[in-house]
Amino acid sequence: MSYYSKEEYEKSKLYRIRHSAAHIMAQAVMEMFPGEAKIAIGPPIENGFYYDFDLPRHLTPDDLKAIEKRMRQIIAGKHPFEKRVISAGEARQVFADQPYKLELIDGLEQGGFDEDGNPIDEVPEISLYTHDTFTDLCRGPHVENTGAINPSAVKLLSVAGAYWRGDENNPQLQRIYGTAWETPQELKDYLRMLEEAKKRDHRKLGKELDIFTFDEEVGPGLPLWLPNGGIIIEELEKLAKEVEYAHGYERVRTPHLTKEALFIRSGHLPYYAESMYPPMEMEGVRYYIKPMNCPMHHKIFAARPRSYRDLPLRLGEYGTCYRYEKSGELFGLMRVRSMQMNDAHIYCAEEDFEQEFMDVISMYMEYFEIFGIERYIMRFSTHSKEGLGKKYVDNERLWLKTEDMVRQAMENGNINYVEVPGEAAFYGPKIDVQVWSAIGREFTLATNQVDFAVPERFDLKFVNRHGEDETPLCIHRAPLSTHERMIGFLIEHYAGKFPVWLAPEQARIIPITDDQFEYARQIEKKYRAAGVRARADLGSERMNAKIRNAQKKQVPYMLVVGNQEKEAGAVAPRLRSGKRLPALSVDAFLERIQAEIRGRVPPPEMQKA
Ligand SMILES: [Zn+2]
Ligand SMILES: [Zn+2]
Repeated sequence: MSYYSKEEYEKSKLYRIRHSAAHIMAQAVMEMFPGEAKIAIGPPIENGFYYDFDLPRHLTPDDLKAIEKRMRQIIAGKHPFEKRVISAGEARQVFADQPYKLELIDGLEQGGFDEDGNPIDEVPEISLYTHDTFTDLCRGPHVENTGAINPSAVKLLSVAGAYWRGDENNPQLQRIYGTAWETPQELKDYLRMLEEAKKRDHRKLGKELDIFTFDEEVGPGLPLWLPNGGIIIEELEKLAKEVEYAHGYERVRTPHLTKEALFIRSGHLPYYAESMYPPMEMEGVRYYIKPMNCPMHHKIFAARPRSYRDLPLRLGEYGTCYRYEKSGELFGLMRVRSMQMNDAHIYCAEEDFEQEFMDVISMYMEYFEIFGIERYIMRFSTHSKEGLGKKYVDNERLWLKTEDMVRQAMENGNINYVEVPGEAAFYGPKIDVQVWSAIGREFTLATNQVDFAVPERFDLKFVNRHGEDETPLCIHRAPLSTHERMIGFLIEHYAGKFPVWLAPEQARIIPITDDQFEYARQIEKKYRAAGVRARADLGSERMNAKIRNAQKKQVPYMLVVGNQEKEAGAVAPRLRSGKRLPALSVDAFLERIQAEIRGRVPPPEMQKA
């Protein structure tokens, strides 16, 4: 698997291979439907590439095989990729019968869009790349010739519907997904990972393990958390509370909606309005349901006069936010319309910034350790000089200073990071945290931002050591992301085999016959009173069926009790893997499981031998 940051990836050979494979695939499809195939866009993506086509009929699995076969022939031809810079007029002639390309050329000519229709800052040059008989509107990069691709390391994966420019009012196109690697072994590893990822899909496991559900009448993107999900949420919040308390945070609570005026002041309206739910009106005033918690935390800061002695002030809240996501973009728990965020805002003086920032980073590391996240990259986005006053708050001194402090803090802390110039947020540098799950699937979990504009918008002040008013810096951070995204990630990371501390049910007591029902009930009562989520299975099924049921629900411990155990006041534990542990007394097992819960130890499936 490739553990690249986005920027490293775009510079990699793999990226050029995949981009080239997309062109080769487009050639093969054009040949399959001569004169009829209309081509749209075909970029490399994480782990592969795709191309969108408008075709006279639906593609079948046999078509994919034929396209793949033809791709191998094209690869064997070792055709060079050649670039040509041309005018918009010439480009229109080249693509005279390709309506999607003509639309893209318009965008390129006017500026503001690249050849895939993505917004960009500059007016780009228009260039073509040609190999063999195929020419695309493209600025590369590509491999030198098609022979640089290993034909046994390319595979087409699937066809899906995709709207032109992601807009459901536009025609629906057919998108072919493919993957390409440097070696056949890498392809094999990737396909194996895909298989495993399918089994771990949080939408599938979330249902099987009764964690969450969606309901048409409630609405798309609005998850309902079932009791098992509720337990996981509570455990995550407990963790956050403990860790934040130790780091000097204080917890606050804020309402789900506020008057329009607050979001005007914060700058969310009108710029962010598209991502917000529409307003509602009451007593002649417009209210918005909040897409973020920040403005309300700022108001808590402003609720009374602050002095340097109050700082750093660290306000934490698991705030529920609501954002409008297009229905076509909703995806399980990963893209939702309501989310509970592990939010906090740290208000500090400039002189405390580095210390506070480092503390946030070390909190990430604590969490990574607990969850067994071994691979991560912090993407550090900084400002660009040209953007000052336009894309970025016009205060170069503060930009340079805070960026330098962040850089220094990351270097000192030996943090794995890449710097991405020109991608900062409007009001300060930010850090996106990319992590990889146990099987190497990539997730973006959280963003940290430094903010030196909003405190000013809110007129936040504190009295410094010299008795003068000073504006604090604000750090936004959410290391545990939202419950939705985090739990979606954790389900896939653990494959549903949660560590004991997170498992909705921690131990299931399984009597061998009715004779031990009462004994099982007593153990259940004792364990529950001690805070262990235990349940006695007093159903009519046979023991083996009960064990299988508990395994299916990924209960970490099954405690089998027969007459022997009953007489000895013992339990015979088994792991969900089927492994049996030696019998031990009811009290001894209680101590063992409590220690595991307290220590938040990883599940046995992920423990190092
Ligand atoms: Zn291209
Ligand atoms: Zn914030």
